[in-house]
Amino acid sequence: MKLTPHALHEILLKEFGNLNWWPMDKGYHEKNGSDPRYEIIVGAILTQNTAWSNVEKALTNLKSQNKLDINNISNIKIENLQELIRPSGFFKQKAKRLKDFTEYLKNNYQGNLDNFFDRDINTIREELLSLNGIGPETADSIILYAGNLSIFVVDAYTKRICKRLPLDTNISYEEIQQFFQKDLCKKYSSQDIPKVYNELHAQIVILAKNYCKKNPECDKCPLKQYCSYRD
Ligand code: SF4
Repeated sequence: MKLTPHALHEILLKEFGNLNWWPMDKGYHEKNGSDPRYEIIVGAILTQNTAWSNVEKALTNLKSQNKLDINNISNIKIENLQELIRPSGFFKQKAKRLKDFTEYLKNNYQGNLDNFFDRDINTIREELLSLNGIGPETADSIILYAGNLSIFVVDAYTKRICKRLPLDTNISYEEIQQFFQKDLCKKYSSQDIPKVYNELHAQIVILAKNYCKKNPECDKCPLKQYCSYRD
């Protein structure tokens, strides 16, 4: 039996529960009066082509110097920023991306994320995609996790699971995204959808890290009875 995105979500919810992504240090932002959504954006840029554990080291460095907010990233010298985020890899490229995004936010939205996110979702997405080094996965992670707006994030893990199960979709980014959104929008209210997209993406990542690895561990996988790949 082929799974739908809704059925996939139900199974993974039973298996992993609510994962409450995106990981972020609320206490730091409460103490410093900074916007926690900016940490999500920084994380989404830093996680490109690297493991999350490396991003955590970079975020810890930024926090240890009280730099994890819009004004401080805007004011810090790029060489210093590069050093702080070095553990996340491609640190020169990523420092420039962080600087560019932050300047854009300051120049066009007074550095205020409410101003940035309080717009039509397609407009926000197009704008993000026009910025240096922001591709679909990063843009959609920012929109969903920082903006709490309704867009499903597709990553390499999602593509792998779609292909292996298989789910009834081609594997281009946009087709997978539309496939998930179309099905899930029929099952949940528009109010609940951002939470569902948030959880399902997180659940897929955990599934891929724990079971559906490059060399999958199918015997323990909660999807094994639905999956063609293991036959
Ligand atoms: S059964 Fe195996 S291939 Fe299929 S989703 Fe699970 S781990 Fe991946």
